[in-house]
Amino acid sequence: MSGSEIVSLSSARPRAQVPLSARAVLTVDLAALRANWARVNQASGRAECAGVVKADAYGLGLAPIARALTNQGCKTFFVASVDEARTAREVQPGATIYVLDGLLPGAEAHYAGFDLRPVLSSLPEVRDWAAYCRARGRRLAAAVHIDTGMNRLGMPQSEVEQLAASPELLAAFPMNERQRLRFEELRAKLPPTPASLSNSGGTFLGPRYHFDLVRPGIALYGGRAHEGKTNPMQTVVRLAARILQVREVAPGASIGYGATYKVQAPARIATIAVGYADGFLRALSVATGEAGPVGYIGDYPVPIVGRVSMDFITADVTSVPPELARRGAWVEVMGHRVTVDDLTDRAGTIGYELLSRLGQRVYRVYEGAEG
Ligand SMILES: *Cc1c(COP(=O)(O)O)cnc(C)c1O
Repeated sequence: MSGSEIVSLSSARPRAQVPLSARAVLTVDLAALRANWARVNQASGRAECAGVVKADAYGLGLAPIARALTNQGCKTFFVASVDEARTAREVQPGATIYVLDGLLPGAEAHYAGFDLRPVLSSLPEVRDWAAYCRARGRRLAAAVHIDTGMNRLGMPQSEVEQLAASPELLAAFPMNERQRLRFEELRAKLPPTPASLSNSGGTFLGPRYHFDLVRPGIALYGGRAHEGKTNPMQTVVRLAARILQVREVAPGASIGYGATYKVQAPARIATIAVGYADGFLRALSVATGEAGPVGYIGDYPVPIVGRVSMDFITADVTSVPPELARRGAWVEVMGHRVTVDDLTDRAGTIGYELLSRLGQRVYRVYEGAEG
């Protein structure tokens, strides 16, 4: 890589090296990731703590994420597809890898060839896997997926029927507790085998939700696992992009597509090289009079204004000294001050979606690789 420079992506953090041509940079803090895994691992008590790395590790890069989690002691991974599982297998030859898609018809050898475990989600899948095992003369591990949304609870059939006819009783159970009870009941019908119920949110509900293995995803990546609670996780991702141009705009002028934002007073507006193609959601657009997200130039907050377009956003940098808000300067648009959840709350979606849709053209930097 020729022509790199040292740029400070955030005043408070170590400096990362990126090419001069990088327009937007995602910094993934692997030390924070490992700390988050360690925290969930501690919260899960005696249960094993896996790592959910589906969807390219929620958009952050499956290989580097799996490597860092392995370094921290994670031995079991969950992915969605066989392709993802192969990437995980390359990183970690000894890991236990579950494929959440289940078993696609006829694809048994693709799983067995890489020592992957399908999460079997129907009787036909169980039958296919069993037939394959018999044909191979080997017992190949798999998981069975119990649907805790099934219309049963942890009690005998007759009681369930009574309960089903008593909506006031059903409503007395929070959803989490109902799922746990169903899981307990259905699990008891199967031969004794290790069990796993909880994602990030479930893990923090306490020991009764841990069973033998917990499957955190979003919490590892710093996202909020519980609506309305303060998020105890460290920030793992920061997104920063460069100013391409700054211009003086007169009162009454409009910014961007659709002229949805009108400048009220003389302003300096910066065009910043990140847009919805990079994962900065179009729903984060800001019309006149709306309070939108803010970015940061160093410690100066800069309100984002106007429509988010495919390649750009615009921000009002009037209050920032011109020598800082200049062509080529970095604007942090997501990080510990404006979190992924802050952005997605405003956009009417969830952190999972923003992270997993981060664009491929965003340059990626991994910090804190060894610990
Ligand atoms: C995605 C997924 C998880 C991880 O969920 P988070 O909410 O991200 O912790 C766990 N289990 C299954 C089956 C999943 O599909």
